[in-house]
Amino acid sequence: MVTPNAGYGANAYYDRQSKSLQFYYFDDDNGQRIHTCLSSDIVNHEFGHALLDGIRPYLLEAVSPQTGAFHEFLGDLTAILMTLRNNSFRKELAARTKGHLKTKSGDELIASVATEFGNAVSGQPYLRSAANEHLLGEYKDEIEPHALSEVMTGAMFDIFVALTEQYLKRERNDGETHTPAQSLQYAVAQMQIIAIQALDLLPPVEVTFNDYARAVMRNLAIANPTDPNYYRGMIADIFVHREIMTAEERTDLLARAPLYDRMPGTITHDPELIGSSRAAAYRYLDDNRDKLFIPDHVDIIVDEVFTSEKMVGPGLFQPKQIILQYLWREDLALAGTRFGSFSGKTTSLLCGGTMVFDVNGSLLYWARKPGSEPFATASVAMEKIKSRKKLFGTEQVALAELEAGKQRRQEYLDALARRIEEGMVGEELAGPEGLVGSRTPPLIAREVDGSVRFELSPHFHVYDDDDSSLGALRWQMSS
Ligand SMILES: [Zn+2]
Repeated sequence: MVTPNAGYGANAYYDRQSKSLQFYYFDDDNGQRIHTCLSSDIVNHEFGHALLDGIRPYLLEAVSPQTGAFHEFLGDLTAILMTLRNNSFRKELAARTKGHLKTKSGDELIASVATEFGNAVSGQPYLRSAANEHLLGEYKDEIEPHALSEVMTGAMFDIFVALTEQYLKRERNDGETHTPAQSLQYAVAQMQIIAIQALDLLPPVEVTFNDYARAVMRNLAIANPTDPNYYRGMIADIFVHREIMTAEERTDLLARAPLYDRMPGTITHDPELIGSSRAAAYRYLDDNRDKLFIPDHVDIIVDEVFTSEKMVGPGLFQPKQIILQYLWREDLALAGTRFGSFSGKTTSLLCGGTMVFDVNGSLLYWARKPGSEPFATASVAMEKIKSRKKLFGTEQVALAELEAGKQRRQEYLDALARRIEEGMVGEELAGPEGLVGSRTPPLIAREVDGSVRFELSPHFHVYDDDDSSLGALRWQMSS
């Protein structure tokens, strides 16, 4: 549902309760009435939030700055891809840049072009935010999601620039080279495969930039195993440069490896049946808790299970994939003054995974967010360590998983404490005025079944930039 004139205010937001896009209108300094619903960038950005919330609803229940930033990134990416799909825009871009979106001399981006186009198209800074050179390491202490999101947006823009350059150089079947306009067109189409298809491979909770980068790499390996144009190496280089991925990860991901693994555990159901029935998916997960690193006592939630058929080119499809997203809640006690008024309460750490497999039970991908409570084999391994017995390989794997879970738990608590200390957590405010108010806290605490859930506030706010002569709107805090 879309509410084009939701009320007065310099704002637009995606409201997850009603699954609707709400657009407000306001009067600018010159008394001009601005309808946010008339800006295609604002609409597309909000649509990106709605899309991601639709496929990964638990991402809003996260305190990690990168998860909020990932939501903003996807909003901006959607706006950028929609702009690039516009034929007249691409034509103009080709004419002005000849397809070279980045200058070779010095590594300065031709940000001026991006700025011009950003303004010409809509007065919105999306393309400007994409043409940046920020590295993730610069943002260690950044918790404002829009600022942090620029690293990921910049990396994807780099990939688009590199793809366009490749098409410019590559010979066509008739021996001619691609024109700038063609190169841009093909690069945009390739970006949809690279950037959007990868979303299916994201873990169900607490997505980080690295999770997305790995999903991009893996999706490409499945979609295009021979990779004749070396996209994967080129893309991995960009992720490493932006510090989203380590050089070791790059080496691992590019190493020759079998494309498939077997699905873990015992499969008593046809994988196709698992893909078509939540009950069958639940049975598979419940029957194989130990092999899936799931503790015995937790309630498993089947977040989503479906079959997907992805295009790799006009009329070309990948083999059918079954995507299974599952999760569980791990109770966390908040103790200590750093949790302020929440000390003494409990919250939950979301744990789980996304499995991608085919109808034959070959595992194509498995993204996991481990918990810190032991599952069967991890308990055995811990006992063995106490009595100084040698561990089997599976037990070592189990312990490593548990350790990763403990680290996640610690990071979650630290991130939450920091946000509480900085006064960024508040109660849910009722009514649209509460939602659009600039004072709405970025994290909202809600009590559910005696436990507190911290959720990114379901809106974002637009305000008049203080000194900008453009009177440009800038995105502030948001979900
Ligand atoms: Zn947003």
